[in-house]
Parts: sequence; structure tokens; C-alpha cells
Amino acid sequence: MSFIPSIHPPDSQDRPILWFIFDKSKLLVISEHGTCSLPDGGQVEAGGLKPIHQLFFGLLEDRLCYAAGLCPDDPLPASFEWMDLRGLPGTIGEELFWIAGRANHLLDWDQSHRFCGRCSHPTEDKSEERAKRCPACGLINYPRLSPAVIVAVVKGDQILLARNKRFRAPFYSVLAGFVEPGETLEQCVQREIHEEVGLSVKKIRYFGSQPWPFPNSLMVGFVADYADGMIAVDNSELMEAAWFSAQSLPALPSRISIAWQLIDWFVNSRQVRH
Ligand SMILES: [Zn+2]
Repeated sequence: MSFIPSIHPPDSQDRPILWFIFDKSKLLVISEHGTCSLPDGGQVEAGGLKPIHQLFFGLLEDRLCYAAGLCPDDPLPASFEWMDLRGLPGTIGEELFWIAGRANHLLDWDQSHRFCGRCSHPTEDKSEERAKRCPACGLINYPRLSPAVIVAVVKGDQILLARNKRFRAPFYSVLAGFVEPGETLEQCVQREIHEEVGLSVKKIRYFGSQPWPFPNSLMVGFVADYADGMIAVDNSELMEAAWFSAQSLPALPSRISIAWQLIDWFVNSRQVRH
């Protein structure tokens, strides 16, 4: 499947529709006979559903992709159900999960920028790009992206993993934090590691990136070597942090996340060395 992002549907409207209908971070799916799928135009119409805040955001092969919400009072027909976005990779598949994440990101931005943040006048969609313009004062808002660094800190044959207070499940992951204005990504890596566990790091190198649409992060992955210090956990964010070897890893985050990819890289790099 190939997804092509776009802000206007093609002139020929005679194409099937694929709906990405959300209630916050829950996506409307059709679940029957043990399979899970996204509703198409006909199924939404047959179910009597009336999507609101419709937003066209691209083409998946020949299908028009629309993000939307639903009136909270609308009853769900049989076989329709709300599914948490995080559970989607294992049900509708990875590719649709990332497209649904994009849809949720754009819908969240669209709904939270209906009024100008500077003068409170209602905004208008720009026609030539994905942006909203205030007709009164001219302020333009683009979809918001919040860059965050995520870092695998390595010390010899061990990796630094921590359990975050916000994690709902009891797993450990690499450290992450949002980039602040005026900061380079490398400075952010140094600051976050120092703030959260009291360590300094060296040889910071780029690993890869991943959009994380809950609701609008862009994770920028790095690998760094331990330089100095003893672990001193900042208990406002973390429950625990410790060094782990590749042979004794704790419960880890979802395999779809760049956090898991960083830990997987660590495990593989140790095996190559030995
Ligand atoms: Zn304004």
C-alpha cells in the first residue's frame, strides 16, 4: 500500500472513501469474524453515522482518506467499536497505524486552531498548504510538531534503561525528553540525561527518527556513550533507572517504537562484538 499525503481531494470524486474517525485517541473500527478493519464510505453511511469536522489528508492507493470526529450522542451500530491507537499495530497493521497516527495528529491540530491564538478571531484554512490563517491579523499556524530526543546511553556491555512514572505498563525504556527553544538536539541529549539520571555522556551520534502521534511528537533517536557520574534518579519523572546487559533485559516497550529499535540495536551490536 502506498499513501500519498495531500490537502485537496482529486477532481474526480468518484473514488472509494476510507474513514479515520476518532474519539480523542480512539479510532473507530469494524470488528467482525475475528478481523478488524477501517470503515469505508458505504459502511459509515449504512451505519447511519454522521462524521463531523471532516478533513481530507491523502490517498491510500485509490481511496480518499478522511479524518473526522463523531457526534458524542451518535449510537454505534453493531460491529463498530472504538479501539485505542496504541493497540492498532497488532490488529489493523503497522502501515495503517502510521496513517491513523497522521490523521489523529492533523485532526487534533485542526480542532485546536479554529481560533487565532493572538486575536481570537476564527481562522480559515489556507488553500495552497496545510495551514490556518487568521483573516483579522494575518497570523499563520502550521500543524504543530514537538521534537523530542530519545537516547540509548551505553556503558561497556550495558545500556541505561529507566521506568517512567507515566508508563501505564511496567516496562523499562531508554530516556527521552522534549527539545527546548534555543537548544540543539545534542545539547538536549546532554541536558535530559543529566536532569533525569545525573550522568554526563559523550560521542553523541544520530540513530534515526520516528513520528510519534500522541499527539504530535517527532522522536529523534541518538546513541551516546557514558562519560561520567553515578545514577541519581529524578523522582519527579522516573521511578527507577539502572544499567542492563543484553542478557538480562527487563520488560521492553512496543516493538513498533524507536525506543525498541534503539534497544534492539544495542543487543545486536553486543552480539557482533562478542
Ligand atoms: Zn488573529
